[in-house]
Amino acid sequence: MRMRIVVYAPSETQAVRACQSAFAKVEAIEQIASDYRPDSELMTLCRNAVGRQVPVSATLGVLLERSLRLSRETDGAFDITAGPAVKLWREARRTQTMPSNAQIREALSRMGWQKIRWRARARTIELAVQGMELDLGGIAKGYACSEALTVLKQNRLSIAMVEMGGDLVFGGAPPHANGWNVRIPHAHPAKLTQQSSLNITEAALSTSGDTEQFVEINGKRYSHIVDPRTGIGLTNRTMATVLAPDGITSDSLATAACVLGAPKAYALMRQYGKTQIWLSQAG
Ligand code: ADP
Ligand code: MG
Repeated sequence: MRMRIVVYAPSETQAVRACQSAFAKVEAIEQIASDYRPDSELMTLCRNAVGRQVPVSATLGVLLERSLRLSRETDGAFDITAGPAVKLWREARRTQTMPSNAQIREALSRMGWQKIRWRARARTIELAVQGMELDLGGIAKGYACSEALTVLKQNRLSIAMVEMGGDLVFGGAPPHANGWNVRIPHAHPAKLTQQSSLNITEAALSTSGDTEQFVEINGKRYSHIVDPRTGIGLTNRTMATVLAPDGITSDSLATAACVLGAPKAYALMRQYGKTQIWLSQAG
């Protein structure tokens, strides 16, 4: 995944040093949260926490806590135990063939956020079922962008933005501007004038949907976002863009909103302060 930092700095030396620290921070988060690296903290935990409580790092604790809260709030539409189904659909993208019903049933048996036993105070986790695969792909990138911005600010560079895929996090406004000008890619034409272009400062913007990662089988488009209750890649063609105070919120809510669709996504957003959502449907 490509990551981009834009920063205003008094000198190139300062900019380079701060960006290197920010990239290092993101690298450290990846080593904790990646489901592609077999030796990440997350993947190690999936092997070791079956049937017994194991301690987790502060970073993983934050991601788990927020993920489980969102699972509760969305009735499982957002679910980091979706790993087995996500992998099936990754495979479907590679082979251009549908997973079988048996495969989907098997994946579902290793999924479900209630199978996570999380002890917040002790910061330990236990997994109820062998073969569970946690997947932070819907929440960790936004979190990482915000953490990178924090590092830049610690280096006294507060006019900055960090971008990873569909997740963007913004600091203070660039010189002579009242914010970072961003266009919502899929704002409804009827609302184009007032809402499609924003000036953002000190906030995060995340977009989720099926425009980039999907598989088309028999004329039907299946997203890389799955409905954890059925194990099937989304076919609702929903795109969601969420503006929120930080990246962990915008990223996770955008993914959740895609699964929920309107009007449930709007209802969810009302529970969160200082957020805005744009939902659209292709086709
Ligand atoms: P992107 O990775 O394209 O930026 P998202 O932030 O929407 O998009 O995250 C999609 C990723 O989230 C998937 O690739 C997968 O790792 C994970 N995921 C898929 N379905 C769900 C779900 N229902 N709940 C939580 N995470 C999911
Ligand atoms: Mg997301």
